[in-house]
Amino acid sequence: MLDILQLNKNNNGIRQKVKELVPDGNLSACLTCGACSSGCPATGLMSMDPRKFLRMAVLGMDTELERHPWVWACTMCNRCYDVCPMKLNIPQLVFYLRSQWPRQERPKGILGSCDHHINSGGGAMGVPLEDFKFTVDDLAEECREQEGFEDLEVSIDREGAYFALNQNSREPVTEPDELLPLWKILHKAGADWTYYSEYWGGENYCMFLADDPSWEKIIRAQAEHIDNLGCKVFVNTECGHSFYAVWSGLQRFNIPHKFEFRHIVEYYAQWIREGKLDVNSDWNKTGIKFTAQDPCNVVRKSLGDRFADDLRFVVKQVVGEENFVEMMPGKSNNYCCGGGGGALQAGYTDERRQYGKTKFEQIMATGATYVVTPCHNCHAQIEDLAHAHDGNYHTVHLWTLICLSMGILGENERIYLGPDLAEYGL
Ligand code: SF4
Ligand code: SF4
Repeated sequence: MLDILQLNKNNNGIRQKVKELVPDGNLSACLTCGACSSGCPATGLMSMDPRKFLRMAVLGMDTELERHPWVWACTMCNRCYDVCPMKLNIPQLVFYLRSQWPRQERPKGILGSCDHHINSGGGAMGVPLEDFKFTVDDLAEECREQEGFEDLEVSIDREGAYFALNQNSREPVTEPDELLPLWKILHKAGADWTYYSEYWGGENYCMFLADDPSWEKIIRAQAEHIDNLGCKVFVNTECGHSFYAVWSGLQRFNIPHKFEFRHIVEYYAQWIREGKLDVNSDWNKTGIKFTAQDPCNVVRKSLGDRFADDLRFVVKQVVGEENFVEMMPGKSNNYCCGGGGGALQAGYTDERRQYGKTKFEQIMATGATYVVTPCHNCHAQIEDLAHAHDGNYHTVHLWTLICLSMGILGENERIYLGPDLAEYGL
């Protein structure tokens, strides 16, 4: 049940500030149509919804909004902005209000990850570069022991490499064997690539923290370093928010760069079309069904439906067109799963799972056994939703399926496969 608004203040600092900050920030233009709230999974959490939130700003209820925890439950997924007939940018309002919290009082999980990233010069888990190098060398050795990968090359800071690849630091730290499938794909495609050392972690919790100086520091350092290496393309791994942090950060902070910035799924599609990746769906003889999650940060917020189309092309090539089940609604009209915006580390677990209930029900309605998630946060959230709401699906990275379909998925690279596929092709 939503609370009735109590008008007990009349100032308009937030309304004026948002008007200054964003060109489409004239909050008074709101028609109160409710389109934003009706399609927002955060509606009702903490007795708040986007229309109410915006109306409170219009009515000058700054005091009530200034520390409202709902700003950490909203994932800034942009769905409300997308449907708003007046193009009112509620996610920007949320971002602004996050930035107004005293830094040390913002959610500890997000704050800690941002500080680790800045202080280590690596990633949000604070892993020293030497440890990352050791893990990479060790795993590359392990990978070379597998048939067909004897001459696999993995490097960090190799000058003149065509691609500079970012790496979410969760994998080397918590599930290192998940690094290998992507390396194998790059190897099979003949990609000339390197990791880079300056702020090598792809994630960016400083963006979620609404800490602009730290967000900028990370992207600026990465951009300068990659340009110095002479890489032509900065390619983002299967992670939505890290893609958006770079894509948006380069523009927001006006960071000069010579490289092109692309997402790895675009290359999966290109390499399959070019015949560089020998994928097929013959292995899926029993007709196992798959659906796919469109990461808000890469689809609605940046690349649009062309990314969603590439994603579908790759999944259908790998699992069989007849075995792909569309989740409704999809592509740019997709609902956020609830794992974005820092929600996984914000500490509001019950709210996050309640938020994700919409997505969970959409997944269950597909009847699919697997959800393909080319995004770390979507992956973690959708997997958690299965546990929280008794779902019977598995959540899988795209790199796992591509390698499975090419018959090159190693024994230790299957932690997200269910019993039906755990030993397939070994
Ligand atoms: S969709 Fe836009 S115009 Fe309609 S209530 Fe929401 S903010 Fe106002
Ligand atoms: S950005 Fe997403 S979660 Fe936030 S108010 Fe808009 S639709 Fe809701």
